[in-house]
Amino acid sequence: MLFLLGEKTVASTENLGEFNCPICDTNKNLVRVIEKNYFTLFFIRILPLGTTADYNQCEGCGHTYSALDADAPLYFETVQSVLAYLLAGYGLSHGIGVSQKIFEAITGKEISATEIQHHIKRINQGSSLFEQLKSSVDKLSWLDKSLIIEAAYLLVYAARPIEYEERLQINLVGNALGVCLEAVNAIVNNLGAMQYKGIQAMEIENHIH
Ligand SMILES: [Zn+2]
Repeated sequence: MLFLLGEKTVASTENLGEFNCPICDTNKNLVRVIEKNYFTLFFIRILPLGTTADYNQCEGCGHTYSALDADAPLYFETVQSVLAYLLAGYGLSHGIGVSQKIFEAITGKEISATEIQHHIKRINQGSSLFEQLKSSVDKLSWLDKSLIIEAAYLLVYAARPIEYEERLQINLVGNALGVCLEAVNAIVNNLGAMQYKGIQAMEIENHIH
C-alpha cells in the first residue's frame, strides 16, 4: 500500500484592531499572523509540527510590530544590531556615518550616531547578534527579514570588496533568520538592480587618518 506523507504550512489571521502605523503614517489594521506546520497523510492534516511564525503585521506596509501601541516596527532594532555587529567585527568605528546612511536607505527613517554607538557597546559587551536574530525569527515578516539582509550586505559593500568571508557573514545572518541561501542570493542580486540604494562600494575608508 502506498502512503503519501507530507508537510503543510497553514496560516491563520486575526485582526487585532486599528493602530496608528508609524510607517504608513495613518490608521491601519494590525493583523496577527500565525503559521503552523502540519504532518499530512494523503494531504490530510494529521499532526501539528509546531508554529513557524507568529507575528503582528500592518496591513498597509507589511512590517511587523510588537503591539498596537508600538512606535517603530520591530525590524528597526534588528537592523541597528546587524550594522553595529558588522562595524564592531571589522573594527570600523569610523564607519558610523555610513551606517546611519544605510539605516536611512533601508528604513526611510533617520538614526542618531549615539544609537548606533549604543548598539556597538552592547555587542562589545558580549550581546549575541545571532541569538537576537534567532529569537526574532518567528516575529518578523518576510519583508522585514529581506531588509535586514539588505542592511548587512550594504554595510559590507560599503566597507570592503566582497569576498568569500564577507559573503559568509551575510549568509549567516540569512541563515539565523531562517532565510535560505537562494533567497539571500536573490535579495543581493535585487540590491544590485536597485544600485545598492545609493550606497557606494568601499564608502568606508579602510585606513584611519
Ligand atoms: Zn504600516
